[in-house]
Amino acid sequence: MLNQRTIAKKVSVTGIGIHSGKKVTLTLHPAVADFGVQFKRTDVPNASVLRANAETVGATENNTTIGAGVNAVHTVEHLLSAFYGFGIDNVYCEIDGPEVPIMDGSGASFVFLLKETGIVSLNKSKKFLIVLEKVRVEVDDKWAEIEPSSKLIIDSTIVFAHPTIKSQNKVFEFSCENYINEIGRARTFGMLKDVDALKRKGLIKGGSLDNAIVLDDYKVVNPEGLRFVDEFVRHKILDTIGDISLLGHEIAGKITTFKSGHNLHNLLCRKLLATPSAYEIVSAASLERETVEAFALPRALAPSFH
Ligand SMILES: [Zn+2]
Repeated sequence: MLNQRTIAKKVSVTGIGIHSGKKVTLTLHPAVADFGVQFKRTDVPNASVLRANAETVGATENNTTIGAGVNAVHTVEHLLSAFYGFGIDNVYCEIDGPEVPIMDGSGASFVFLLKETGIVSLNKSKKFLIVLEKVRVEVDDKWAEIEPSSKLIIDSTIVFAHPTIKSQNKVFEFSCENYINEIGRARTFGMLKDVDALKRKGLIKGGSLDNAIVLDDYKVVNPEGLRFVDEFVRHKILDTIGDISLLGHEIAGKITTFKSGHNLHNLLCRKLLATPSAYEIVSAASLERETVEAFALPRALAPSFH
């Protein structure tokens, strides 16, 4: 039996938003079964709680935003990705600013935080979204599709006209252990030549070599170099997991993406959810072992029970 998970205790983290440049404190609270992931802006008077799901996504340009206007939380994707990486279903997230802190530009700080905080198994079965039919979305030459598979597999291809990136492909078979070892540490990246244009749009005010891989016309500028030779496509997989976790359940399906981004990931979620014949939601108790065993945590992180 594979049960829903939450965190063992309240924990806070402070950092800056990559786009806003503002210092923010994010506080995570344990939550009950079937609560899901919910955000609350504590700096906005009378702000309603924002439930994180594909339909509450308000914007997908350069980041994934839950909500819209004054009551919104930007750049949720790396945090949500880390939650999925640990099989965490239920968390109440309070934040005193507009954007989840970027930390080092990867999920590593959240992975560390979740490891230190501990995981609790709740007294209710996990639910899985099982893909039954292929669903595909396309925008220009970019596309993404999801098709039946007993496990979550992400086959990602990125293409950049840059000598360090060029074309990278990675096929990632999800398990909590694989996520922590192969994906969680991969950082976001950007081109030095785009910095001025993004700053003029009010974006990346908090961006620096401390929270992104930065590339000039030829090479990586960061003195420490890359964490993986294919760190770029690994980060795309990290983003994809965060964005598709907004389906609201663990996922049994194979996702293939070509030059995808937050917009395409959200379109894929919305199209799947709008196609009732393409999926079903089932209890983990009724699933094959190979589907649920991907959520086994490394022994040192094994959840306690409430
Ligand atoms: Zn990202």
